[in-house]
Amino acid sequence: MTTGCPSCKSSLQGSPIPEEHRLAGLYGDDPPTHYSRKVGIEYPGIYDGVLVWSCPDCGYKWPRFAVGALYGAGIRAIEGETEHEDLGGDYLGPNGSTR
Ligand SMILES: [Zn+2]
Repeated sequence: MTTGCPSCKSSLQGSPIPEEHRLAGLYGDDPPTHYSRKVGIEYPGIYDGVLVWSCPDCGYKWPRFAVGALYGAGIRAIEGETEHEDLGGDYLGPNGSTR
């Protein structure tokens, strides 16, 4: 559970989860020992849940799912954001226009 950011290699392991919370079953039958620092991003209308992870340190984004249709959806969501960022952060109109 000590996987780092794929880009900057920063540790994504957060602080320890209190033992009483782990024993209470709040984190399942095989509870992790630490919280995660990964930021989960949802894209409403594409997937109901985390589709993309983001690094809290460098902002790099990567798909939650490694294979299949949801991997592709994650890639497209990230690429869609990148295209917007390439416009310089201007306000985007309903059709992606900047005016
Ligand atoms: Zn990073």
